[in-house]
Amino acid sequence: MIPKYIVLHHVASSNSDSIENQNTYAQTLKYKRAYHDVIRTDGHLIPLIDHTEVIGHCGVDHNSQSLTGKTSNMNSIGISVFGNYEIAKMPDAQLKGLIDSIWSISQELNIPLGNIIRHKDVIGNQTQCPGRYYPYEELLTALANSMIPKEFKFTAGQSAYELDGLQKFMDKDVVNIWGNTSIPIRSFFESMGYEVIWNQQTKQIECRRLE
Ligand SMILES: [Zn+2]
Repeated sequence: MIPKYIVLHHVASSNSDSIENQNTYAQTLKYKRAYHDVIRTDGHLIPLIDHTEVIGHCGVDHNSQSLTGKTSNMNSIGISVFGNYEIAKMPDAQLKGLIDSIWSISQELNIPLGNIIRHKDVIGNQTQCPGRYYPYEELLTALANSMIPKEFKFTAGQSAYELDGLQKFMDKDVVNIWGNTSIPIRSFFESMGYEVIWNQQTKQIECRRLE
């Protein structure tokens, strides 16, 4: 399998806080092949099975070849975290480990930001996984800030555009100027988290990334 999606899970158990318990649990998971990797509460990643292997992390209804193209067990890897994020907040160390791990995995496998989804986003799944307190938005924001964009799609007459499959918005539309489809550069850079300044003295447009 060549993975196209990363599906995010939690193990939904709070009794896994000691490293020993986590390792034992990981062994069990490897046997069951529940996830490809799992991240401990201290942020360390435990690899369970090779990313090219198909496992059942999306659920049995998502095994079919016909679902390939949508997210299924056939085209995705499952990355889990120890803890129950339906009832608790993720510790800082684990969040940092999660961001670092998902960043390296997505770079290595060339998986765009829009293809990093939660278990509950897999169409047809009746699950709350990875839990209501799972820091999904925080993860995506951190990844967006560290990823090199691979693909932009702009549409004439629209202010919405696509960045690696994610929808982003400018405060002005893409317009036609003298026969050229033109992107409003200030709106674009601002939507990417840059500050834009017109320097009257040097006649330069200065775009600086806001930290
Ligand atoms: Zn799950």
